[in-house]
Amino acid sequence: MITTYIALGSNLGDSRQLLASALAAMAELVDSELDAVSPTYRSRAIGPGQQRDYLNLVARLRTALPVTELLTALQQIEADHGRERRERWGARTLDLDILLYGDARIDTPSLTVPHPRMAERNFVLYPLTDLAPDLVLPCGTPVGRWRESCSDAGLEALGDSIEPGR
Ligand code: AMP
Repeated sequence: MITTYIALGSNLGDSRQLLASALAAMAELVDSELDAVSPTYRSRAIGPGQQRDYLNLVARLRTALPVTELLTALQQIEADHGRERRERWGARTLDLDILLYGDARIDTPSLTVPHPRMAERNFVLYPLTDLAPDLVLPCGTPVGRWRESCSDAGLEALGDSIEPGR
């Protein structure tokens, strides 16, 4: 089993319910178990136009799925939750990103792991380090060091966790 970290975000629809349902779907993935879910954060949207704040969290999933199958499965969960790909950085009902897949470093047209923007995204780093404060990235950097140098501007810890459910 490989330990993976998945970032979840939503800023359209009933985000709390969508995230709960996405977590339930991840818990049901074959050859996988949902190991832990971070506290929930609210973050200011980046991107075009006026957008609602995001709800963000990070999940730890242990899986025997190859990473390409994991990506396909996560994209299916996005599609099942009404994800529409209208514009880059646009509002979305559900966004799932693979942050880490064990110690793998992957750079293909469809997949970059570790996720290339995780170092600068407080809405990823904060929940990730809540879940795994001692995590060391494949490049050898402790994730806590990134968090120390990452501002919490626009980020609010809501102080609760979303349980998987439908
Ligand atoms: P986005 O619209 O931001 O969710 O980007 C989706 C696209 O990013 C998909 O076509 C994926 O193939 C690609 N992608 C590249 N690296 C990753 C990753 N680590 N996790 C999820 N999607 C990724």
